[in-house]
Amino acid sequence: MRLLLAEDDRDIALYTASKLEGEGYAVDHAATGPEVWDLGETGDYAAIILDLGLPGMDGLSILKRWRAAGVNTPVIVLTARGSWMERVDGFEAGADDYLPKPFRPEELLARLKALLRRAGGNAAPVRSAGRFLVDDGAKRVSFDGRVLDLSPQEFRLISLFVSHKGKVLTPIEIANHVQGRDDDQAKNAVEAMVARLRRKTDASAIETRRGFGYVMPEEGA
Ligand code: CA
Repeated sequence: MRLLLAEDDRDIALYTASKLEGEGYAVDHAATGPEVWDLGETGDYAAIILDLGLPGMDGLSILKRWRAAGVNTPVIVLTARGSWMERVDGFEAGADDYLPKPFRPEELLARLKALLRRAGGNAAPVRSAGRFLVDDGAKRVSFDGRVLDLSPQEFRLISLFVSHKGKVLTPIEIANHVQGRDDDQAKNAVEAMVARLRRKTDASAIETRRGFGYVMPEEGA
């Protein structure tokens, strides 16, 4: 079972990772916000252990982005001891459990096992919209039954559309979710990415609503 450990404190990360590996888990460790965000959204993890204070992008923002993009991997949030605000914010952002720092690895393991039991080893669902089928577990998208060759960002973009089928998404919203920023450069990149996806699929797969943004139609044209 593969876990993502998001922790920028090197000592805590090394110690925790070795304990988890000792219990038979495979552990990917990431220490910066953007890296954590990317791995959590494109990787296939049984669970994620997420420190809230990460450099580059804070844990809460990352968690909100994952949930908005349809990532339903169970997440344990690491919070400062006694900070009930962090706990509330964490649950509201979509955390499944929390653990105050400093923590004993034994407690993390116990909570992790309980969380994985609750998740019941559920395979990630396959979602569909229009002519797209998104397999979140395999990180694979097919269009009219044909598997597409996609970059992680393109996967993220389609996943976002499928989670919001029939809804117009503004370039700013898309840039925020796909690029992690919404400046002009990111918005231009979104335009280019949509054009690329249309070439890989069909010109009508993603529609432009001039002046508003883009929409993935619910039913294929
Ligand atoms: Ca930290």
